[in-house]
Amino acid sequence: MSELPSDLARVVLSAETIHARVCEIADQLSKDYADKDGLYIIGILKGAFIFLADLTRQLTLPHVVDFMAVSSYGKTDTFSGAVRIIMDLREPIEGRHVLIVEDIVDTGHTLSYLYRTLKGRKPASLNACVLVQKERDSLEVPIHYLGFKIPDVWVVGYGLDFADAYRTLPYIAELKREEG
Ligand code: 5GP
Repeated sequence: MSELPSDLARVVLSAETIHARVCEIADQLSKDYADKDGLYIIGILKGAFIFLADLTRQLTLPHVVDFMAVSSYGKTDTFSGAVRIIMDLREPIEGRHVLIVEDIVDTGHTLSYLYRTLKGRKPASLNACVLVQKERDSLEVPIHYLGFKIPDVWVVGYGLDFADAYRTLPYIAELKREEG
């Protein structure tokens, strides 16, 4: 592998490791939803776009892709309980089998908010598929399909950013902490 950018401490998940797990999750989803009348997949922007693209291209069942963008209040704060929708779905989800696809769960506030909001729209079922979850104290939110648990550090790559940089790295890496 070529050298890491100097702001990054180490690779946490290699491209190969991620690819293998994404294929496993897609197989599982294809089995679990095989008897349903299609799947309505909601990618949470911006971070989930690469995971979503790789995952959906491995699915062997009919599915529709839609997007939502959410934002936490407090740009400089990595922790904020308040979440708001900045871009909503194009269609109603009433009666549909819905899968939220999210890049990362940290405190769990974002996923918890999404459950509350989307449940109110009366889907036939509502599950979540998350690529990485940090090992830390967080809200109890059900994650039906989880890629990996990772240490509680700031990670970038494979859709995840730091100030909009590093999103398109093929791997997930830990960002170096600022000294002092
Ligand atoms: P929550 O704390 O609500 O579970 O996560 C809030 C949002 O913070 C996530 O959807 C993600 O956009 C962002 N986030 C949390 N931890 C990280 C991280 O380590 N790296 C990046 N790039 N974003 C993160």
